[in-house]
Amino acid sequence: MNLIYLDYNGTTPVDAEVVEVMLPYLRDHYGNPSTKSPLGQKARAGLDRAREQVAELINASPEEIYFTSGATEANNWVVLGLAPTQMVTTTIEHPSVLRACERLEAQGIGTVRKLPVDAHGCVRPEQLDGVAAGLVSIMHSNNEVGTLQPIAELAARARQAGALFHSDAAQSLGKVEVDVQAWGVDFLTLAGHKLYAPKGIGALYVRKGVRMDPYILGAGQERGQRSGTENVALAVALGAACELAGRRWREDGARMRRLRDELQQRLQNELGERVLINGHPEQRLPNTLSVNFRGTTGAALLQECPQLAASTGPACHDGVVRLSHVLAALGVDPEVGKGAVRLSLGRLTTDQEVETTASTLVAAYRKVSLLAQG
Ligand code: PLP
Repeated sequence: MNLIYLDYNGTTPVDAEVVEVMLPYLRDHYGNPSTKSPLGQKARAGLDRAREQVAELINASPEEIYFTSGATEANNWVVLGLAPTQMVTTTIEHPSVLRACERLEAQGIGTVRKLPVDAHGCVRPEQLDGVAAGLVSIMHSNNEVGTLQPIAELAARARQAGALFHSDAAQSLGKVEVDVQAWGVDFLTLAGHKLYAPKGIGALYVRKGVRMDPYILGAGQERGQRSGTENVALAVALGAACELAGRRWREDGARMRRLRDELQQRLQNELGERVLINGHPEQRLPNTLSVNFRGTTGAALLQECPQLAASTGPACHDGVVRLSHVLAALGVDPEVGKGAVRLSLGRLTTDQEVETTASTLVAAYRKVSLLAQG
């Protein structure tokens, strides 16, 4: 049985080209980049090059890039490192932002206001006019439903009101254009393993001139901002993945959109009103399809499709299906949303896989809904 992988928003495979670039840094160039020895300098050169590659993909300068262990750390760093006394975010952020906000409040450091979103998952930019906050954090693309926010407009309004602006773009890189200059953001979060690099590496963009406290203290690596001996091989991999994404994102994005739309169309043609799409119809990541299958649960449906690797939105605890915080924030009816399945396509998805996925899901749906009717 050939596995069909449609969980690229969960994580991506590491690109073969990225592995090739990274391997010598595990095998041969193992020096500590803080030492002056030739081995150390070889590692330093790899790290410097990687920083340039990351910067280039998002239109930043290399000195504005700080490597982290992933998007979670980057998001934690912005919220807890900046530690604003007033902060604004949204109800659909990743838990790495939301949990950090809870800590700000629990420790009495600051108060956090969460902006609501509409039924498509969009934030209304006017909500930021005159906002009283030290920091506004709004994700560019939502990992569950794919909705894209108008970051340039949101950042402009936040900065007009005197707030710094952060955006989590972990899901955006390699799928759509990301440009920190055009967007006018102060901070941007990146993740390696959503971009065909390994897990455990990410980066935070910090606009030049913005003062930020270090989050991890120690021997002063990453220009004193993020201590700990650098994970050179993984940083090199992230750099290579960014370079690859720079060359490929337009073509990849267009291809994923064609395949995603095809999959959506096939499901809608076969199942009509029994499927309901989550997220914005157009302002959405080109690879993401979050579908509610009415009258069943996502878990029951996927259980009938063992060759399909996808994810369910809601979680089931003790037999009770709970909507994810994202679907709940969109106002999805829990009876409908319990049937949510997230299908996220990627660079390696084929036409044949899309066809097989559609027919497999339709057959499985017919079976489980018949079972449900008893
Ligand atoms: N932010 C978003 C939008 C994500 O989708 C994820 C991963 O699912 C993260 C942050 C956290 O990334 P990581 O697990 O690499 O730290």
